[in-house]
Amino acid sequence: MKCRICGVKASVNMRQHNMALCKEHFLEWIPGQTARFIKKYEMFTENEKILVAVSGGKDSLSLWDILRRLGYQADGLYISLGIDEGIDYSAESQRLAEKFALEHKLKLHVVDIQKEYKEAIPTLSFKNRRGKGKECSICGLVKRHEMNRIARDGGYDVLATGHNLDDEAATLFGNTLNWAGEYLLRQGPVLQGKPGLARKVKPLCRFYEREMLAYALLRGIEYIYDECPLSIGSTSIYYKETLNRIENDRPGAKLAFYLSFLEARRAGLFTDRAEIQAELHHCPQCGQPTSASGLCSFCGMLLKRPESIDE
Ligand code: SF4
Ligand code: ZN
Ligand code: ZN
Repeated sequence: MKCRICGVKASVNMRQHNMALCKEHFLEWIPGQTARFIKKYEMFTENEKILVAVSGGKDSLSLWDILRRLGYQADGLYISLGIDEGIDYSAESQRLAEKFALEHKLKLHVVDIQKEYKEAIPTLSFKNRRGKGKECSICGLVKRHEMNRIARDGGYDVLATGHNLDDEAATLFGNTLNWAGEYLLRQGPVLQGKPGLARKVKPLCRFYEREMLAYALLRGIEYIYDECPLSIGSTSIYYKETLNRIENDRPGAKLAFYLSFLEARRAGLFTDRAEIQAELHHCPQCGQPTSASGLCSFCGMLLKRPESIDE
């Protein structure tokens, strides 16, 4: 297999694009395509201040690296979730995020959930009656709240996450299986901001996971190899495996699934639903916008205590 651009031996073969590239041209192609997606979906401009949510994994560190190479002003945010499960997952991912920031002289905000709210994710989940295997919903709620808080307090215009095509296609697959209208309405490369809520963007949403893996390896980025131990057995992993089987038989199927969805939405498939917008209020506890009439779901979650714990 030869590089389509220069003809030397290719390092990465992308069956879905019917294209192979050498290391040098692949490492140019990824930022070039990212810049194209940023422009196409109007994610942000050169003058806007970006906060990148960095988990220590290959996607978020690669995103930070790409934005830096493209010349954007992007600071990082690492949220320590207090997940160890025998492999010190949080400590190791924090070490790698800090190492990357130090090596490239980048600013990294670090939020420790245990220190900030006196409980880490496993305990918060337990107290909210979400036992083993169900931590992701509480974890997602905490991460969204904290990302928004730091973006608001730090005056960032936009919050960027490292979701890749495999993540987005799996989420879309799950939302479609359940016809989860509200979620389908909100899914896409850009979620526009509102007063008090930063705009959210996913610049890597059109890259396959294996393309991001190749980018991280070829750039020599040190990232955490382990998946979050709490993700084992999750439905999102099951959906990813299912889509991988389809992709294996029909290269490009995953990308076509996601892009057709974006096109259907652009053409007005969800227009009627889009007009139904919940009115937002300010949470009396933390001040963040919420559609609830009292406390936002994050502050409500912090207060919840099952009877067995109260005693
Ligand atoms: Fe949190 Fe679940 Fe992701 Fe682990 S897999 S970091 S628990 S959302
Ligand atoms: Zn080449
Ligand atoms: Zn609140």
